[in-house]
Amino acid sequence: MNTVARSHADDVGSLPGMRAARREAFVRLGVETLGDLLRLAPRRYEDRRHPRPTADIEAGETALVVGRVRSSKSFRTRAGLSILEATIADASGTAIARWFYRGFMPTPLPEDRRVALFGVVKTVKNAQPEFKSPELERLAEEGVDDPGCGRFVPVHPRTAGLSAAVVRRAVWDALPAALDVPDPLPAPLRAAHDLPALGETLRALHFPDDLEEAERARRRLAFDELLVHELLLAERRQARRATAAPPLPFPARVRARIEARLPFELTPGQVKAVDEIVADLEQPVPMNRLLQGDVGSGKTAVAVYALLGAVARGLQVAFMAPTEVLARQHTQTLERMLTGSRVRLEQLAGGRRGKGRTAALARIAAGEADVVVGTHAVLSADVQFADLGLVIVDEQHKFGVRQRRELVAKGGTKAAWRRPHCLVMTATPIPRTLALTVWGDMEVSVIEGRIPGRAPVETCVVTAQEARDVMPRVRAELAAGRQAYVIYPLVEESDKIALKDAQAGHERWTRALPEHRVGLLHGRLKRDEKERVMEAFRTGEVAVLVATVVVEVGVDVPNASLLIVEHAERFGLSQLHQLRGRIGRGTTGGLCILVDRSREETPARLEILAADTDGFAIAEEDLKLRGVGDLFGTRQHGRPAFRAAVLPRDLPVLMEARTAADALLSEDPALEAHPALARALKARRSLLDDV
Ligand code: ADP
Ligand code: MG
Repeated sequence: MNTVARSHADDVGSLPGMRAARREAFVRLGVETLGDLLRLAPRRYEDRRHPRPTADIEAGETALVVGRVRSSKSFRTRAGLSILEATIADASGTAIARWFYRGFMPTPLPEDRRVALFGVVKTVKNAQPEFKSPELERLAEEGVDDPGCGRFVPVHPRTAGLSAAVVRRAVWDALPAALDVPDPLPAPLRAAHDLPALGETLRALHFPDDLEEAERARRRLAFDELLVHELLLAERRQARRATAAPPLPFPARVRARIEARLPFELTPGQVKAVDEIVADLEQPVPMNRLLQGDVGSGKTAVAVYALLGAVARGLQVAFMAPTEVLARQHTQTLERMLTGSRVRLEQLAGGRRGKGRTAALARIAAGEADVVVGTHAVLSADVQFADLGLVIVDEQHKFGVRQRRELVAKGGTKAAWRRPHCLVMTATPIPRTLALTVWGDMEVSVIEGRIPGRAPVETCVVTAQEARDVMPRVRAELAAGRQAYVIYPLVEESDKIALKDAQAGHERWTRALPEHRVGLLHGRLKRDEKERVMEAFRTGEVAVLVATVVVEVGVDVPNASLLIVEHAERFGLSQLHQLRGRIGRGTTGGLCILVDRSREETPARLEILAADTDGFAIAEEDLKLRGVGDLFGTRQHGRPAFRAAVLPRDLPVLMEARTAADALLSEDPALEAHPALARALKARRSLLDDV
């Protein structure tokens, strides 16, 4: 191994053979220093431990041959291709290798040079294996270690202008610098979690003795990343626990009054979630809880339960929904439940301006409004609460976490030192453990089980042609007094196209169903127009609602039993599952028709939906397809949330990292004894500022 003294802070340009163009290529890989280079994790390893005697090799084998160049030449074919050919001899015989070039004539290999070939053997002619474009390693003399031969060989990410062999050689040359990389993990911590030291880790990561060692190294790097992530979450948890919130007691008397207002009995799943929430609300520290439940599991009722508790205590509640339509629906639900009570509701929509808004703001600031329902308009700087006790955020994934924090920071003017409790609801079920990693400073409640008496929704995937055959079914449903949604996708680049699709669809459906009213709902409509259409659909006046994705989340019209999704291939699985949740809310079940216009063979992805009705299972599939990166919303920063850690696979490591983070912080809250960790934490804080 190379023994030139190097430091991890040295520029990659300081390595031997590093021309400017090559250095540029490394920079494109995100590698500027030797330390960066050493953290460039291999994508895989090739087993090049044992050379094969050329005489034993069979066609089709992937083989390593080590020998000396017996002869070599280069020549041009009539087709204008240049070929480099070499005959390599080992103790048992010879092998031939050919490489193909266009545009320049390669130099033949020097005779007697010791080399290794690695690749697939195309054919064996006269007991002589022939390689086509194998990897070539120029070897040092026997007895000297080599990065590309006689070991598990790392295959690193590469880029234009950098071959695997060049990256590997650079890592090899940089390796002595690994010894001086400061290890951010204190030795006792490493011992407690059975982690190798950093220098050893980096050596094993690139040049492991076996694959277990390589995996141990990767696990150590994953631990580092997850530890820093957990430190950040622990920091947030502790900050929250150090603030005060008004405790909201739920004595039996209050509970009875709340339950009397709900139009139905809560399911056991809802009761369990309510109990968990109530236990939090009774504490003098702010609750931060995520309420997960599949679409239609009845999250709103659980939220209303908490809401009424806060109101009973004389505190204000902010209820934030992602769309106008939903905010309006929540207002109506609340109005229905609160008729005859003294609870004062205020709706704050984005469009509300002028005198009406000024008066509403004055009432909120004076504490004359108990519950404020609205869209992100609730976040505006001019919305001041008198005494905010609880914030409810519906359909969390539609809001940035920064927005949620802004709302929580509002508190109130009456007791500015304390913070409201926060309940976040989401219908995009994320596997529980994963939720812990993403929103690790949140407690999680899950509504399990279904609401009784619900008939199931049937789902089928049809082609454009088959779609015509559904008309009789549509007519039958409508004739039976039921209603239907027809959904068009929002085209990412242009909502104009989506609008045209939806408008054309609206005309077609209007012509096809002259005896019914067909409504059109899309993002470009004016607010009150949207509300009018939605209201007409809610009352049943409009039988068919043609819409772009505005009905995606939360809309609740129990009489709708049919859902037709156009261009279903353009939707994500979870999104389709959400849409499907719009129907089957009554007692007669529903039919969901996914029209696949992709003209592809068997849309396997969509079939997952037809086969499965469990949102959690679907979310896991979606996760497999999209990866976890999206959950952190860091994609737009162009940096992955984790480099070495792979979730959900590394969940056990994550759990260990969490324990370690708690221990570190309880002993040394400012991480004074761990400057490297403190630095990493600071970097992570700014990366995940939005999460
Ligand atoms: P989601 O979890 O998707 O937000 P909702 O809160 O909109 O679901 O509830 C879906 C429907 O189920 C609503 O019509 C609601 O009135 C009804 N619902 C909720 N809980 C119950 C229950 N315990 N018994 C009967 N119906 C319920
Ligand atoms: Mg909802």
